[in-house]
Amino acid sequence: MRPEAVQAMLPFFSERFANPSGSHRASRDAMLAIDDAREIVADCLGVKAGEIIFTGCGTESDNTAILGPTRSAGGTAVCPASEHHAILHPVEHIGGRIIGVDEQCQVRMDELGAALDPAHGDQVRVVSVMAANNEVGTIQPLAAISTLVRRLAPAAVLHTDAVQAAAWLDLAAITPLVDMMSLSGHKFGGPKGVGVLWSRDGQRFEPLLLGGGQERDRRSGTHNVAGIVAFAEALRLTVAERESTNVRVTMLRNRLVDGLLAMSPCVVETVSRDVKLPGSAHVMFEGLENESLLFLLDQEGICASAASACASGAMEPSHVLAAMGVRRELAHGAIRFSLGRTTTDADIDHLLSVMPAILDRLTPTVEAANIAAGTRTSTSTTTRAEKVLS
Ligand code: PLP
Repeated sequence: MRPEAVQAMLPFFSERFANPSGSHRASRDAMLAIDDAREIVADCLGVKAGEIIFTGCGTESDNTAILGPTRSAGGTAVCPASEHHAILHPVEHIGGRIIGVDEQCQVRMDELGAALDPAHGDQVRVVSVMAANNEVGTIQPLAAISTLVRRLAPAAVLHTDAVQAAAWLDLAAITPLVDMMSLSGHKFGGPKGVGVLWSRDGQRFEPLLLGGGQERDRRSGTHNVAGIVAFAEALRLTVAERESTNVRVTMLRNRLVDGLLAMSPCVVETVSRDVKLPGSAHVMFEGLENESLLFLLDQEGICASAASACASGAMEPSHVLAAMGVRRELAHGAIRFSLGRTTTDADIDHLLSVMPAILDRLTPTVEAANIAAGTRTSTSTTTRAEKVLS
């Protein structure tokens, strides 16, 4: 977390602890803090304060954006196959439609157009397309998507999951294109367990949580005052520093990816840098298995991620890479290095200096295993992963 955000939340665990829903002066003080936070967030998004709804996380905001409007007005939902599960699962839950993405992970506009055609069945009530992908970093062409949705389905709500984009993209330039937006505090130096759903005035949706009527009946539940205040402080600082952070992190990311590409012909850059977020360095190591790579990187103090879900003991390639049509064998070698505001030149130097030995350690055995098996299948690389991990 940003130290300023930690500082901002501390008084709400002690002297300013009151429940903002009360009527005494301590409660009014806590409610004033929420009002201030709401103004700050609205300002960052270029929207009205009354349109900001504080939630418990990005998942809750996403679920509300899909289930809320469809429960209140009927109809179905449409989203691309590369969305976060917080969108995909509710869309699948209501029997919505999943459309394809191209090899850069951008929405296939012809499939979106076809899904919005009333001849296809249910009326589309919600279209949800993330501002940027959390695994590979691809930024979606929201301006073109918005134009298409407005033309073909003018009554549909256009929602964007901007959870991953918030640290990098100008959110105030995105809100005019859409009707709803989800954010989550822990993606830009705020706390975990606090989210925002922005919903344009006049948008009707059924709340997920019914109860005390907080957030003008749109999200019941006692406010997480400390979290909300810290969310606003982290977002305010992120927006103020965004341009300089983006320039610096883009340079670091390029140095990292160029260094990896120069190291071995087995390194593949997953999507083009022209269409992705500055902090995203997603690469695939042909013939290697990401579980082993992550293990050896972790031993060097490098915390990366495989973008794979480990279901029932088997490493399943990411649904995002599958949607992009990446070969299963290549997807098994996918690694997501995430850079941020605190990443330094020394971090990149360290990674680039330890990587050759890690690749040396993995490559010959993988090749030997593949030659022995006469194939380059995921089975042979999994065997290698088991060896390294044991
Ligand atoms: N959407 C995206 C794109 C995400 O990356 C995440 C979290 O990683 C979420 C939604 C869910 O947010 P939360 O963890 O706050 O529920």
